Order: sequence, then structure tokens, then C-alpha cells
Amino acid sequence: MGKLFGTFGIRRIANEEFTPEMVTRLALSFGTFIEGRTVVVGRDPRKSSEMLYHAVIAGLMSCGCRVIELGVTATPTLQWACRQWSHWGAMITASHNPPEWNGLKLMEKSGKGLDPEQETVVEEIYFKENFRRVPWSSIPQETVKRPVNHDYVRAIISKVNAEAIRNSAFRVVIDCANGSPALITPLLLSELGCRVVSINSHPDGRFPGRNPEPTPQNLTDLSTMMRHGDFDVGFAQDGDGDRLIVVRDEGVFISGDYSVSLVADTLAKRMGPGPIVTTVATTHLLKEIAHKTGRRFIATAVGDRLVAKALQESEGIFGCEENGGMIFPDFVWGRDGAIAAAWILDIMATTGKPLKEILAELPTYYQVKKKVFVDPGKKEKIIRKIDAVTATYPDRITLDGYKVVFHDDSWILVRPSGTEPLFRVFSESRNQSQAEQLVEEYLEIIHGV
Ligand code: MG
Repeated sequence: MGKLFGTFGIRRIANEEFTPEMVTRLALSFGTFIEGRTVVVGRDPRKSSEMLYHAVIAGLMSCGCRVIELGVTATPTLQWACRQWSHWGAMITASHNPPEWNGLKLMEKSGKGLDPEQETVVEEIYFKENFRRVPWSSIPQETVKRPVNHDYVRAIISKVNAEAIRNSAFRVVIDCANGSPALITPLLLSELGCRVVSINSHPDGRFPGRNPEPTPQNLTDLSTMMRHGDFDVGFAQDGDGDRLIVVRDEGVFISGDYSVSLVADTLAKRMGPGPIVTTVATTHLLKEIAHKTGRRFIATAVGDRLVAKALQESEGIFGCEENGGMIFPDFVWGRDGAIAAAWILDIMATTGKPLKEILAELPTYYQVKKKVFVDPGKKEKIIRKIDAVTATYPDRITLDGYKVVFHDDSWILVRPSGTEPLFRVFSESRNQSQAEQLVEEYLEIIHGV
């Protein structure tokens, strides 16, 4: 049996492998799995998304599922709607992938992505084709169209100190990647009283403005505007709006490790008990923040669904990833870029300080992150070597790759990719040369195999 699902849903090239036929069968499999219950369906603005949206809806209705259509929306908005109404969810999106891609993400009624075990059951139904087809008289006659982007924006506003943000009248640039955030985040920022300049802010599935992955290389327009204009903060999102990148004055990118720490630090001071949850690849600054406020620090394997699940199970106050993904458990059981932006504004407004100053108050940790491609034939041998080298250390974590934590809380993490002949080598230390040295040491070990 093949394997359909990746780290979050299925992604393929649209109309080559990811055809309407395939997507209808996937929807039939999901509709069978949930025994014909109601599903909230949404899509991003990719060229192929409307076509695949109809294919998903057809498959679901064939199983007798009632369908609530959200139209073009962000992934966290759909997850929010699932949770509000306690309905299953299906989102047509390929997140930050290039325009020729598309994909499908399936959600539980809480709005969290399906667990891998649930996906395995959906896959079994897909390959065995034992679909639940209802008789003609049980096919729902029509779908319900219920756009929620504005409700979602209002819900975000109710979660933050909107008055303080409005009184600050921040000048903000937002780069929407020509994706779903175009319909949400500029509106949110305007409603929060910001003076907003938005770029790439019309939905366009060809992504004419930039590659939808929000990396510094892809965000040159935003950083140029921040350098030459008079703005308090810049934000950038990916194609389906779950990620947020923060740029401060002078066009300086704030690393994901620091943007999440900024929010974690504020929430830890304001909120009641409960752990902070992240992955093994994220800064230990979060551990320091957690311990200072008497909380547990929980690290999972890499993957936002795993963080969301651990948050649910531990009743945590905040979840995050080193790439800047943030999960607010009282709002959406997944990463949410729009509410993350509102929280950054809340922090700026309530402290009354520029971002640069607020960041300077956090302890300094240095991160080094490298990606190294290897000969595919050597991958297994390298893994065995890293296993042997790290086995002698008392504080070794093998939840996802090999992480060694040293007595001064410096750490090194070597993670083989699940799909490619490549290793990610991350380190962190309070001492910059130590962080660099650790990565060099392990790159040498990898190259020496
Ligand atoms: Mg995304």
C-alpha cells in the first residue's frame, strides 16, 4: 500500500498526480471515515484550488456529508470554524509550496489536524475503495455557504488588547504572498487601528509577487520598505496564512526562535498555570521562560500537529516552532499567523516600547542552523555514526534525530530528513563561537563518513 500523507496532509503537483479524480476519492475516503458527518470545506486562491474544491465537495456529498463552504480562506480560519461549530474540516491548500502544487489538509472537530493513526485509516479506505456511498435520496441537496473571514477577524480582536493597539496607531507593512492572508490580515490590522500598507495583497494563484514561502530571500520587497519607510513593524505570511514572519525597523528579520519567545514571555507573565510546548529544534530560551514562571517546558518531535496534540494533552498555555509558527490553545489548535501578528502588536502597545527594545530585554542565545545534502547511499551509515557519537552523552534526546544537551545548556541537534538525502544540523549556545563550533564539529563527522 502506498503512502499518501506527509507531515501535514497530502501535497502533489496539481492536475498531474493531484487530479480531481484523486481528490474526489480522497474526499470519499474521508467522508467514509467520518461516517457521513458534516464537513467545513475551504480553499486557498491557487489556480487549481477552485477545481479541487468542487471535487472534494462532490466526494463528501456522495458519502452523505453535509458541506459548509467557506470559499477562499486561511488554514487557521478553517480550523477556527471547525472548533466553533464542532465539525470536521477539509482545506485545499499547498501552504507555502510553489504555484503548481496543491494539497489537502484534514481536520478533526476540534480543528486540529488528523492524527497519523487516523490518516492511516483514511488511506486504507482510499486504497481498498470501500466507500460509503449513500442512496440518491440521502445526498444532501445543496451546500451551505458561510464565509467566516470577518467573524474570524472579530474573534481575534476580542482576544487581544484592541484598545491599546488602536491608541498606538502603528504603521505596519503586511506582505500577504498573494495568498489567503490577503482576505484577512490587512482587514485585521485596519480594524486594530493600524495604518496599513499591504503588498502582494490581492489573491492570485500564480503568486506573481513572490514565492509563497516566507523566507528572508523571498521577502526583499518587505525588507526594502521597512528600511526606507517609516514603519513600526513588518509582517509576512505564507500562502495559507498559518505562518508569520516579523520584521522590525531597519528591515531586520526577527528569527522564529525570537518572535515566538517574545510572545511566550508575555503570555507566561500574564497567564495562569500550564506548560509551554515546542519542538526539540526550538530555542532553550523558552525553557528559561517556562522555568522562571514555574511552568513545565515540553519538547516534541518536529511537526506542528505534534505540538498541538501535546498542548491539548498537557493543557499548555502556548505552543510554537523555531520557524515562527505559533499556536494559541484558547483560539485555534494549529499555527495561526493572523492572531500571532495581533499578539505582537499587543505586546508593542502594552509595553509602549519599539520592538528592538523589547527584544533586547530577552536573554541572548545564538543559533546556528545548517542543512547538508549527502550521498543517498551513505545516509544510513551517517545515522549510525551520529548515533554512536552521541550515545556517550548523558543528556541525549532521540525523540527526533539526535540531540545532545551539554552542562551549560548549549545543544546540538542532527536530524535526518524523512524524505530527502539531507541532514539538518542545529546548535544553540549563549556563546556564539561555541554554537558555531558545535555545528562545524558535527558537519565534519557527517562529511567524514
Ligand atoms: Mg502554511
